[in-house]
Amino acid sequence: MADYLISGGTGYVPEDGLTAQQLFANADGLTYNDFLILPGFIDFIADEVDLTSALTRKITLKTPLISSPMDTVTEADMAIAMALMGGIGFIHHNCTPEFQANEVRKVKKFEQGFITDPVVLSPSHTVGDVLEAKIRHGFSGIPITATGTMGSKLVGIVTSRDIDFLAEKDHTTLLSEVMTPRIELVVAPAGVTLKEANEILQRSKKGKLPIVNDHDELVAIIARTDLKKNRDYPLASKDSHKQLLCGAAVGTREDDKYRLDLLTQAGADVIVLDSSQGNSVYQIAMVHYIKQKYPHLQVIGGNVVTAAQAKNLIDAGVDGLRVGMGCGSICITQEVMACGRPQGTAVYKVAEYARRFGVPVIADGGIQTVGHVVKALALGASTVMMGSLLAATTEAPGEYFFSDGVRLKKYRGMGSLDAMEKSSSSQKRYFSEGDKVKIAQGVSGSIQDKGSIQKFVPYLIAGIQHGCQDIGAQSLSVLRSMMYSGELKFEKRTMSAQIEGGVHGLHSYEKRLY
Ligand code: IMP
Repeated sequence: MADYLISGGTGYVPEDGLTAQQLFANADGLTYNDFLILPGFIDFIADEVDLTSALTRKITLKTPLISSPMDTVTEADMAIAMALMGGIGFIHHNCTPEFQANEVRKVKKFEQGFITDPVVLSPSHTVGDVLEAKIRHGFSGIPITATGTMGSKLVGIVTSRDIDFLAEKDHTTLLSEVMTPRIELVVAPAGVTLKEANEILQRSKKGKLPIVNDHDELVAIIARTDLKKNRDYPLASKDSHKQLLCGAAVGTREDDKYRLDLLTQAGADVIVLDSSQGNSVYQIAMVHYIKQKYPHLQVIGGNVVTAAQAKNLIDAGVDGLRVGMGCGSICITQEVMACGRPQGTAVYKVAEYARRFGVPVIADGGIQTVGHVVKALALGASTVMMGSLLAATTEAPGEYFFSDGVRLKKYRGMGSLDAMEKSSSSQKRYFSEGDKVKIAQGVSGSIQDKGSIQKFVPYLIAGIQHGCQDIGAQSLSVLRSMMYSGELKFEKRTMSAQIEGGVHGLHSYEKRLY
């Protein structure tokens, strides 16, 4: 084995560890837990590590984190929060094309501080309805419009002050009797800046400021509590019009072309073709179709786990690849279909091939810890897509519920019977549309409340930066070039090494991550 001189050194040290090429030279599939990265030399602080990385040929993100297009992970709230923190969210398609396009529109129209889809009631709703909304959404300043929807004439507002002193029996009282009527409200015209709105709120000492158009129709509201929470998002992923970036998933069937039209009209920046086995005539035809109809739209193909699969999609013209088959936390694909690949090997093999064509790779699924994110990036992935890690956060779709005293949210595979029964889009991803017997490729379960991703994603970002610091890579591009040059060294982990690497030998302990 070759020896080499450590710079300015006191002598030779023996070659140590395996290059990525050596690590994957034998055909045994490795997962993230099967190897470690050997530490390098630190000459910078973790905060300085630059996480800028490519999502597609033309889109670059400051944070290499993506939320998965699953119906328990990404709708507008998640996509907005991910984009604000420098990543991106892909809106799922287990819904009507109209619903999905509307979620994309919410992300593209998002302006910090302006709430464009608040809970709205009508004068014929009751005090009971307000109390119910308060339990579900945790607030009580509710605008009242003629029809009880946004875009209709503003007729009043109901706040705690209007209903707090009503007796139990008054729950059936109509809001028209208790609301503060329009004439007494301070409002602002559409087009007002956040700064101006802030000043109006301060002067009026109100909690909510409705924003109305020329016809006195409600278009947004601003909440004082939100203004106080407002913070800067220097990493935010934005397009050239300063709107947040948003992705969306579609299938590859004929009717997905209509969905695609609605999504592009709503402003989607990037489309992912959602299939568990992307190397198909259907996907290749869809890539051609999109590239011809919307040449500027970025298209991500997948999922793939081999270079041969990737080749067909790259030849078809994809701008990015999604890698992973069978590694997701809710996934039973490998068990049922006998196809798939351990995720470490899949990411390395596909990324190593795709980089020759300048096509970035998303490591999709199987991410259980921030260390797994670092490993995925060190194996050549440009970004990482997560489902379970982001599920059960405040921004994930669905309501919290309690089971045995634990606060939970649902998390399910898009190939679970549960999801497939909801709409046909999910069936298409898993190729069982029209099949007599539905073959589930995922399970449905629940995850404990994780709080907001506004706290969780910064933890992930800091964790990746610390990982890169230990490795001695000041940016993700340095990390990748260290890997491909062979400077980055890995080591396989035996089962006992994996046990040693976890907490052990304690009677009890508490694991708090941040
Ligand atoms: P997780 O981050 O380990 O929870 O994995 C999420 C990923 O699993 C998604 O981004 C999908 O690629 C994949 N996935 C989602 N639903 C299913 C399913 O029902 N079966 C198999 N894989 C799935």
